[in-house]
Amino acid sequence: MPEHYKALQGFRDILPDEQPYWRFVEETAAAVAHLYGYKRIETPLLEDTAIYRRTAGEGTDIVDKEMYSFDDRPDKDGKSDNIALRPEGTAGVVRAYLEHGMFKLPQPVKLYYMSTPMFRRDKPQAGRYREHHQFGCEALGESDPAIDAEMIGLLYQVYMQLGLRHIRVHLNSIGDRNCRPQYIETLRDYYRPLLSTCCEDCQVRFYKNPLRLLDCKEAQDQPKIENAPKIADSLCEPCREHFAAVQRYLTNYGVPFSLNSLLVRGLDYYTRTVFEFTSERDKNALNGGGRYDGLAEILGGQPTPGIGFGMGMERIILEMKRQGVTPPVEEHTHAFVVALGKTAEVKDATVQLVADLRHSGIKAEMSYGDRGFKAQMKQVKSSSADYALLLGEDELAQGLVTVKDQRSNEAGMEAQQVQIKREEIVDYLKEY
Ligand SMILES: [Zn+2]
Ligand SMILES: [Zn+2]
Repeated sequence: MPEHYKALQGFRDILPDEQPYWRFVEETAAAVAHLYGYKRIETPLLEDTAIYRRTAGEGTDIVDKEMYSFDDRPDKDGKSDNIALRPEGTAGVVRAYLEHGMFKLPQPVKLYYMSTPMFRRDKPQAGRYREHHQFGCEALGESDPAIDAEMIGLLYQVYMQLGLRHIRVHLNSIGDRNCRPQYIETLRDYYRPLLSTCCEDCQVRFYKNPLRLLDCKEAQDQPKIENAPKIADSLCEPCREHFAAVQRYLTNYGVPFSLNSLLVRGLDYYTRTVFEFTSERDKNALNGGGRYDGLAEILGGQPTPGIGFGMGMERIILEMKRQGVTPPVEEHTHAFVVALGKTAEVKDATVQLVADLRHSGIKAEMSYGDRGFKAQMKQVKSSSADYALLLGEDELAQGLVTVKDQRSNEAGMEAQQVQIKREEIVDYLKEY
């Protein structure tokens, strides 16, 4: 027996049964994004690895261990580019914003992407895949706190319209290049005498990425984190005002939020607002986002404020299932055309009728492979079609179609049967 191919480890097919969830999330999220004035953008799956090295951070796991990057085949001059599969969505969008001069457009430029594949070479484990898909929004060129609140409000509205419950927003401000360096010094001063009792990771974080000390999950470091100086107490006046305004505007949007001084981002270009969505009393982290006013400069652009989030669609669909949220059922077959007899005339007329129905926007099916009457009626039943349309020599001779109402059949009654003129069948089906 030949060996069968399988999807690669950590990758999976999204089968038809799963698609109603995807369609529901896609349609809901796109509708809300449009409502808020966001326009769709999609960027290439492959980019110069350098943009991720610069933005995702050299020395982070994403770049060093988890990114799919490789040397492309050399061109004629023997040069080859190092390219990478997209590990996250923001860098490509900001690259496109700069490349296409979108900074010359009226600001802010508000963009979203949908079902966009992202790749990370994680260790395969339950519920984690090496390819996942995101819905994400980015607003570029504006630092007004109303944008921060709008973006969080947009995402909250998506969750509400998906029917998710117990959604909470955690909010923090991590300051800017004006006030954060001072906070980091304060944090280091606090940690320095405790360092020898910290976990190994924190010993490294202290030097490389001190904000992430607040992220540590090790039990031994939790009391240290609890008593650590809060960044909110170190914000400069403009950051303080910005943060206060974000909170007021979130109230305008009716978004319930709580302040969480431990919510941080490790990279320098992140500024001010950070947020995270959770559900079920914070048991499940759903997604997060934040402001990245320093990112465009890293990619060679002028200083450009920006804010965004990415939402993992697999994770949201998992949460919908957990909460018992089901997507709307897809439209079922309205009419199933049954061929009575196996002559070429009947078959031609069957194909013609199905074609006419579909051209008129009626969801129609037929049986293939010249099955017998009983077998076709079985298919009608399993398709849950509203009507079976019977077409045989007699109907052809009289210019009629026999219409069996399957719904009356389902109710345990004898299927009601009428004959309708062939040229009136589309109108009849549209009416009933
Ligand atoms: Zn630690
Ligand atoms: Zn500041």
